[in-house]
Amino acid sequence: LRTITDIGEMRTSSACLRAEGRVIGLVPTMGYLHDGHLRLIRMTAELADSVVVSLFVNPTQFGPSEDYGRYPRDLARDTALAEDAGCTVLFAPETRAMYPEGHATIVRVTGLADRMCGAARPGHFDGVATVVAKLLNIVRPHLAVFGQKDAQQATIIERMVLDLDMGVEIIRGPIVREPDGLAMSSRNSYLSGDERADATVLFEALGLGRSLFRSGATGAAKVLEEMRRLIESKASARVQYIVAVDPQTLEDLPELRTGAMLAMAVFIGETRLIDNLVL
Ligand code: AMP
Repeated sequence: LRTITDIGEMRTSSACLRAEGRVIGLVPTMGYLHDGHLRLIRMTAELADSVVVSLFVNPTQFGPSEDYGRYPRDLARDTALAEDAGCTVLFAPETRAMYPEGHATIVRVTGLADRMCGAARPGHFDGVATVVAKLLNIVRPHLAVFGQKDAQQATIIERMVLDLDMGVEIIRGPIVREPDGLAMSSRNSYLSGDERADATVLFEALGLGRSLFRSGATGAAKVLEEMRRLIESKASARVQYIVAVDPQTLEDLPELRTGAMLAMAVFIGETRLIDNLVL
């Protein structure tokens, strides 16, 4: 595994790989790797000759009162895990190299970025789209892999790549879960013991929604209300949003159907968790 921090060096390395006819795959991450990330890296290793994992805690996607400063970081551990999963290049740029003095361009995917997590975290997806556009421009991969865990993010990136003719294939990897169903997340490390126990309620609520749908319920409002009630039965849980949407347009669906996505953001204590399930 080769670790690159310099943007120019990353560009040169990619240009050489491309010239040799190698397929380059990119997995963007904020580090503190877990099995969710590692699954995406392994998936990419099956599709590409060269697997670039970017590791960058992007300040522009955090709100002023969010956890940018305390977001978990462990470069040595991440390097070992990424290499083991098949990463060939770890790209870990410095913040001041990514956002030098005078940086003024924002990539904004209108509409899609304003709902769900975007409504709750103003500017978040502008930060995400901007940094992903930069990473795609620097690494110039043939394909880039994103997790279904952040389904809205993947939808926004797909839209951006299409709209800006970026010519990279976007691939989604499935949600990787703990044995009790909790979706893996670097932020799970914030949970106390009691909170960790309560956090399984996100997946339980998605399961409840699915079983109501399977037993014939189609009115989204009623199903979402049942799910909300289950979540709020946990002392530490507070629902930020819970929706049934079309996974492409992210528009609310009053009637559930196969292919509809149930999605939510829930605070467990101070920790904000997201999860989703496609019916
Ligand atoms: P992050 O480091 O949280 O920005 O995540 C980097 C990538 O890993 C994103 O594409 C996420 O969607 C993906 N990811 C994070 N957690 C999971 C998970 N539990 N299952 C699948 N993909 C995930």
